[in-house]
Amino acid sequence: MTPSGAPDDAREPDDTPSEAAAPLAAASAESPPIPESDPVSERDRHFMRLAQAAADKARAAGEVPVGAVLVRGDEVIATGFNHPIGTHDPSAHAEMAALRAAGAALGNYRLPGCELYVTLEPCLMCAGAIMHARISRVVYGARDPKTGACGSVVDAFSNAQLNHHTSVVGGVLETECGDALRAFFAERRRASREARRAAAEAADAASAQPGRTNPGRTDPH
Ligand SMILES: [Zn+2]
Repeated sequence: MTPSGAPDDAREPDDTPSEAAAPLAAASAESPPIPESDPVSERDRHFMRLAQAAADKARAAGEVPVGAVLVRGDEVIATGFNHPIGTHDPSAHAEMAALRAAGAALGNYRLPGCELYVTLEPCLMCAGAIMHARISRVVYGARDPKTGACGSVVDAFSNAQLNHHTSVVGGVLETECGDALRAFFAERRRASREARRAAAEAADAASAQPGRTNPGRTDPH
């Protein structure tokens, strides 16, 4: 069930058995182990849910909620969440945080055989870092029509001169991942409107009480 195993071997046709194949294998060999009808596995959804949990940490910190999980086999090596505002660091995207933590955990800046799950389509910066790290597979949730570098704006991974290592799957739990972002921005717009309204009301109140802004003219003393 782990795509990081040997999917090519697993898809070898059953009608070319080795000489060691026993006759009793014929009956059971017809049931393929890989569900071809569902390219997004429950395993992918599982790790994407962990990435969503990491995105919640970003949201709690007031950052755009994007989360990432770096996986080797079925082991979570590292997680990361988006936090450029709090760190004053434009490179502090969720993918970068997960890549840095995984590199430190494994003692290697190359991460072959690892998969990166992220709730939002990686940008060009993160796509570059993913390639440098030799990540085997990227799985992302929501597409990013503004900065997505996996096909939405540019498709860095499809450039064979740049990428020899990484396959990409998009749209895993896309609606859920996108909903978290939409809710965040809706809340931020609402808070911004509230702040503007409060400022306008404060300005109105100040102008309605000239004595507070210009006491010299109205104070009889
Ligand atoms: Zn990025």
